[in-house]
Amino acid sequence: MAPSLSAREMDPDLESVLQAPIAAAEVGDIPAEAFREAAHDAVSWMVEYLEQVEKFPVLSRIVPGQLQAELPAEPPAAGEPLGDLLRDFETLILPGITHWNHPSFHGYFAISGSAPGILGEMLTAALNVNGMVWRSSPAVTELELHVLGWIRGLLGLPADFFGIIQDTASSSSHLALAGARLRAYPEVREQGLFGLPRGRIYLSEEAHSSIEKAALALGFGTQDIKKVPADRYFRMDPRLLEQAMSADKAEGIRPVAVVATVGTTSTTSVDPVRELLAISRTFGAWFHVDAAYAGAAALLPECRPLFDGWEEADSIVFNPHKWLFTPVDCSVLYTRDRHALRDALSLVPEYLRAPGGEEPVTNLMDYGVALGRRFRSLKLWFVLRAFGVQGLQDRIRAHIAMARLIRDQITATPGWEVLSPVLFSTVVFRRNPGTLTGSERDAFNLALLDAINASGIAFLSHTRLRGEIWLRWAIGNLKTEPRHLEATWDFLRQWDPSDAQHSPVKLP
Ligand code: PLP
Repeated sequence: MAPSLSAREMDPDLESVLQAPIAAAEVGDIPAEAFREAAHDAVSWMVEYLEQVEKFPVLSRIVPGQLQAELPAEPPAAGEPLGDLLRDFETLILPGITHWNHPSFHGYFAISGSAPGILGEMLTAALNVNGMVWRSSPAVTELELHVLGWIRGLLGLPADFFGIIQDTASSSSHLALAGARLRAYPEVREQGLFGLPRGRIYLSEEAHSSIEKAALALGFGTQDIKKVPADRYFRMDPRLLEQAMSADKAEGIRPVAVVATVGTTSTTSVDPVRELLAISRTFGAWFHVDAAYAGAAALLPECRPLFDGWEEADSIVFNPHKWLFTPVDCSVLYTRDRHALRDALSLVPEYLRAPGGEEPVTNLMDYGVALGRRFRSLKLWFVLRAFGVQGLQDRIRAHIAMARLIRDQITATPGWEVLSPVLFSTVVFRRNPGTLTGSERDAFNLALLDAINASGIAFLSHTRLRGEIWLRWAIGNLKTEPRHLEATWDFLRQWDPSDAQHSPVKLP
């Protein structure tokens, strides 16, 4: 038996710390009544905020450093009443919020939470459980596995896909590629990548930066990442993928993974999944599908052909926090090789083992870098139940229909153009009067973007494609109606750069 340890023997200087008096202090949480009152106020505020969110400018108007300058340099020595916190939330914090809940928030991938999602999130905060292992809160694991089974069916994926929730698509793809790395290098856990033959991960030049980041985090260098050129519709070119993989094979480079995207970030293009899958299989690479945004559209039978082949992938990422009305954060990773994911990163120290020995359960901590797990499936469960499958489908359909409406309006207006087919709920477009040089056109569109965003009417974002600036109009908010789109379109159409002092170009 190990002798019990004496602090003095360990370090004589510790004695003064151990002997220092610890004064009795006020303990415990804020009184229940104070919490109840503030919580009711907060809920009333939330309901009103969501009802009246349109009265706020979409994009925050504060300048960098403004909020920090307004906050006290030091935290309060004594506790403050919760009512003061709520008041300061409204006066100090709210001006620094860009309102993703606003029906005219169309930047990046416009997303919205929803009432049931917020309810789930609130209860998750109240429970404050950590689902790292099954026994640390069994409902966290069981609801997660069950709800992801439901979603798997809704997406049309076969039952051998195992799903787990991660915080973001970045984490999901990181874990998927960790599985791919283990499959390509079974010795990697013991040896690391150093000294092993070079490997390569293939993705389209249009793939999201999270894939490259995941590769970097897993010990691959930028030279190990092959960005395959896309075709004129921004889809990965299978011919060029095959050429790249063949050339690498001839040089002894190991194929680690091919990553296809359904719904790329800039244009929402769809890679030819089935063709890429076949090439990936020929070379023995892991096949990962990034459908972080567009995955929600697989709930619609009419959109399913866009996903053809993903049901044979090794892994798929889809974010309910993008287009399935679930508050940030909630990303779903499906894989048909859960052992590869577990074996890639799982470590089980004694203090996390069940005291009575192995239990026949899934322990979520085995899938990913993080040990701790928020109870994210609760809000997802609430969303699925409150809207029902039909309700979710209707809302996704409405968003696609509104995107088509915008597309038609833009296309029908002289001097405006839409870049590529609108497959989901995002329109990529620009003003192109035909009389501007390329750089003047870019400057014009950036000035227009600045103007609409500064107006407070709407928030749009941009991208650069083949060197040129395009604007992105993404729809995903539950409150967006055609009247909001009309207001935005009126502004865009009628904007005259001569009104804007910062505009670098004049409208011809
Ligand atoms: N993949 C795609 C296609 C995306 O569009 C995005 C973000 O927009 C991501 C991955 C990263 O998502 P997350 O913020 O959940 O990591």
